[in-house]
Amino acid sequence: MKVPNVISTYCPYCRKHTEHKVSTYSPGKRRSLAFGNVKFENKLRGHGGKRAGKKSVKKQGKRQVVVLTCTECNKKQMRVYIKSRTKKKIEVKR
Ligand SMILES: [Zn+2]
Repeated sequence: MKVPNVISTYCPYCRKHTEHKVSTYSPGKRRSLAFGNVKFENKLRGHGGKRAGKKSVKKQGKRQVVVLTCTECNKKQMRVYIKSRTKKKIEVKR
């Protein structure tokens, strides 16, 4: 699915409609030594049999998120572009 390069929408920081640059969202690398991550990995280790915390059902696809950056204040906001879970990927038009 193709998304336009520039969109004019409401900016909550400027409190008016401004032009926004559109880019795709990519999550950062997870820190393997973060407290919550270490705790979760210990939980997965378990004591044989069924492991707590392991998902039995995998979800199909993801909600596609777009990052909008305001051209006036350079603040970023995220927006869910396709609301339902899909395998369609978003492309930004050039
Ligand atoms: Zn703004």
